[in-house]
Amino acid sequence: MDESAMKGPISIRLPKAMMSELRAHLFQGDGDEHGAVIGASAVATARGLRFLGRRLFLAVDGVDYLPGHRGYRMLTADFVRQCALACADDGLAYMAVHNHPGTDSVALSGDDMASHRRGYPALLDILDGSPVGALVFAHQAVAGDIWLSKQNQLELDHAVVVGRTQETMYPSPRTLSGTDPQYDRQVRLLGERGQDILSAQKVGIIGAGGAGSLISEYLARLGIGHLVVVDFDRLDATNLPRVVGAKRSDLRPKWLPAPIARLLRYKAKHKVDIAKRVAQEANPRIQFEAIAGDITDSAVAQRLVDCDAIFLAADTMQARLVVNALCHQYLIPTWQVGAKVQVDPPTGKIQDVFSVVRQLVPGETCLWCNELIDSTRLAEEAASPEQRQAQRYVDEVPAPSVITLNAVAVAHAVNDYLFAVLGLLDADQMVTWTKCRPLDPQPAIELPRQDTVCPECVGRLGMGGLKPLPVRE
Ligand SMILES: [Zn+2]
Ligand SMILES: [Zn+2]
Repeated sequence: MDESAMKGPISIRLPKAMMSELRAHLFQGDGDEHGAVIGASAVATARGLRFLGRRLFLAVDGVDYLPGHRGYRMLTADFVRQCALACADDGLAYMAVHNHPGTDSVALSGDDMASHRRGYPALLDILDGSPVGALVFAHQAVAGDIWLSKQNQLELDHAVVVGRTQETMYPSPRTLSGTDPQYDRQVRLLGERGQDILSAQKVGIIGAGGAGSLISEYLARLGIGHLVVVDFDRLDATNLPRVVGAKRSDLRPKWLPAPIARLLRYKAKHKVDIAKRVAQEANPRIQFEAIAGDITDSAVAQRLVDCDAIFLAADTMQARLVVNALCHQYLIPTWQVGAKVQVDPPTGKIQDVFSVVRQLVPGETCLWCNELIDSTRLAEEAASPEQRQAQRYVDEVPAPSVITLNAVAVAHAVNDYLFAVLGLLDADQMVTWTKCRPLDPQPAIELPRQDTVCPECVGRLGMGGLKPLPVRE
């Protein structure tokens, strides 16, 4: 792989289901060491090199994992070779895994490192360009020795277990950098460690309209360090009741008379630039990428692959398809938010009003499995505006939209993200999707289903850059 792109820390992300299986194998309650191999895709990004767990091979004690000649235990040459060939076939990096005693600190031993020096040069040849490495786990810690090449070896910085909640493990407990006193009141709930986690997060927001502008404001005020907001749309007068922080002068400056503005073809501000202004006023140190583009464009989607979380607040089937793929393929927890008013067109009678939040968990909950990506509408959206006009697909009547319906969904989603990313929820809590209806006092709880052969969640899980995203090139 291209080592010039390697800057920043090395991390690995593991789907919760994979980590649970690995934990049960490593920590059997016998106090002994056990072994396994993880096949992981590698994504080189500006925020460091990220490995994504794709396959898990458990070594059977007494067969694949035996007393060592030099160290305590070792994987057999046969098991190593089979796993390395399987990883090479799939274009995955090879990571040997074992466990040491301990709780929140762990390190590879001198024997471990000596065995890497003996074995990894030959393994790198089998892997044909993919990295090779070793991870050692304690109950709540992980350390790693990663060989990008025979000349370049680096230490693992941390591992993230991605599920309904997130768990970050380091080789040893980290020291805190100190929190800005402006966060005093929320630190009393989240702790300094929680605030520290938030300041290191990169979060993507798709859509900067009614819902997206609120998400961006909430995340900026909470102290998220880095936001990437995507929306190609510009402000128009009908957005003023919903886009937070939008000013009338964002449509056209006061000093510019309307006829001259028309003559000059003056354009209103992009919604992402309004979101950026609001975010920077709340937190001047925030890193804010405003992308006036479309998430279905390959180059735009690529800018989200190293996010720690994504919020989907754009209601097209194409955006759903791409963001659902980003979630499973790059192991990024995602929240879809929406608010809807369904009106019977002939009578104008309100049929349903709701705000909805759907958490997407990599490898577990998926918009495709739950039939929330309509293939007919997907095809309609893929057609050009002229084609749609010809086929009379254009929806003549703009959909109803109200700031308070958006706010209910957004507050619920950002709150859920906060508690999930800080590990404040019970790790075994199930994913539920909630619909709030102002006309019904009881919120509706839905249990998402999963199809075990789904090409979108199971098929893409942890594939990273090994599979193209469903975007336009
Ligand atoms: Zn060891
Ligand atoms: Zn699925």
